[in-house]
Amino acid sequence: RPATFRVDVSALLAKLGEKKESLKFMKRRIQRLGPQWAAAARHLDRQLGDQGREQKRILVHMGFLAISSGDGFSSMVLKGGPLGEMVQWADILTALYILGHRVQVSVTIRHLQRILGKPYARRSCPASGFLPFDLIYTDYHGLDQIEEYRGISLRTHKCRIRVIDTFGTEPAYNNKEYAFKHGYRSSWGHRKLDSKQYMTMFPHTPDNSFMGFVVDELNETEKLDISRNKINNMTVVYGKEISMWERKEHFFKVLHRHMEIHGTVYSTDHPYVVPAFVHNHGLLSQKDLQQLLKKAKLFIGFGFPYEGPAPLEAVANGCIFLQPKFHPPHSSLNHIFFHGKPTSRELTSQHPYMEKHIGRPHVMTVNFSNLQEFEETIQEIMRTKVEPYLPFEYTCEGMLERVHAYIQHQDFCAPIDPFPLATIPSPFILLSNSERFTWDPDVKAPPSWPPLRSLQALISQPGHSCITACEGIGMVCEPTFFRFINNKQAFDTLKVPCKVLEGEVNHIFPAVKRQLLCSVQKDPRLFSCAGLSAGYQRLCPCRDARHGQVALCQDCL
Ligand code: UDP
Repeated sequence: RPATFRVDVSALLAKLGEKKESLKFMKRRIQRLGPQWAAAARHLDRQLGDQGREQKRILVHMGFLAISSGDGFSSMVLKGGPLGEMVQWADILTALYILGHRVQVSVTIRHLQRILGKPYARRSCPASGFLPFDLIYTDYHGLDQIEEYRGISLRTHKCRIRVIDTFGTEPAYNNKEYAFKHGYRSSWGHRKLDSKQYMTMFPHTPDNSFMGFVVDELNETEKLDISRNKINNMTVVYGKEISMWERKEHFFKVLHRHMEIHGTVYSTDHPYVVPAFVHNHGLLSQKDLQQLLKKAKLFIGFGFPYEGPAPLEAVANGCIFLQPKFHPPHSSLNHIFFHGKPTSRELTSQHPYMEKHIGRPHVMTVNFSNLQEFEETIQEIMRTKVEPYLPFEYTCEGMLERVHAYIQHQDFCAPIDPFPLATIPSPFILLSNSERFTWDPDVKAPPSWPPLRSLQALISQPGHSCITACEGIGMVCEPTFFRFINNKQAFDTLKVPCKVLEGEVNHIFPAVKRQLLCSVQKDPRLFSCAGLSAGYQRLCPCRDARHGQVALCQDCL
């Protein structure tokens, strides 16, 4: 059955019920953004033309709402709890629904059991267990719940799972034995999924799929209103929990010399209270928060929370986002928040996406331990005029395009074959700068998504990851391509004089040490863009990207 775009979200809203505060928050969001989704659907529909799309049967199981303390999440919504997660789930549901798929939603174990069958059903249906879904979107909690309460064999069906995983799971953490042996222990991970089955909130590592969320897009009249009504000395502080404001008085003192300070802190019985000169609005609805941001000039973060949606919303409403640089960077090695998370990623600031993908003049990342630099930046911000800015990948159309492409092209159920290079003498040709190679257009390329014609491979600097190496040439590391370059021909093409060529199970391979010791990867699940090790130069597969849509290559649609 073909999937046809939908432009009316009312049937989706009806699926969500009224019981939980978290679901009510999502419904308000879906309803408010409904017209923007509809416009995006019409536009993408025209762009895709008669490209056939099959309707998928999709289960969306929000495991974090179904854990025994899940109702705790619901009550936290009223206290500013993890609203970022709700934002993302609301948008995922809407994108899948608008794309025309058959979406079923579950937020309780009982409901999950009703849908999948009780555990004992498995014994009476031993073969593979019938699964009435092509795809299941869930989170780490949901994975446990499906495994524990399943009526299906997860092993047979795990290729259909997509894990919504805010901060990401790097390949080194994916396999328990490997992770324990090599010092990549974590509280999560270990599921032996394809790393692309993990879907993140921001494009952290290309090893995972970037799912994202959306931010309200302004029309020209709204943009004009903003430029007329901006209040040059008005700032909003990022942090809806009072603990995020503690021990920041010295900054507030400097800030207050120049600006009026606003906050959206839910008041608790916490001993700390916001300074008297702060206009605290309490927790606002998303709609009211947008209104506040439309007036404000500055949105300021003091280091926590990490990587939420609010700074993007602020910049989309014409604010400048000011945040602290982290030196040394924060990571699972030195910060409790990331401890046990299956990633070695190093955050160079509170919000690296804002720092690296947007940057000045919309985003200023400075050293907060220097109060003079801090004050000068405030003064610079008051002088700087900026327009509202929203990267395409965070618009409704950007998200629809990406989710459409994933559903159409990502297939983790097909067996992964190591690429049979023996049949082709050398499928690679050096590019003119002779430090990179690509697939020879005269040699028939095996089917792959992204298509192989976007490949450019190179050797990294010693100790660099493939993420950094590909960024260095303005491209994106593409883990899907590792299997094509994990061989001697690739080293030969780059004239690496491998004295020794060995095969090993290690997430930094393919790589070369001292230009002589070449190693290829023996476990395809460990191909990793993020992996790095001092002294090793990685062999890296890069690809191009669509403008404003880092997850997709030029020919990926
Ligand atoms: N938000 C809100 N009211 C407020 C403050 C924030 O509705 O008073 C919303 C905001 O629009 C954003 C979401 O909360 O979309 C998540 O915000 P944040 O970046 O703080 O991320 P979190 O830490 O909740 O994941």
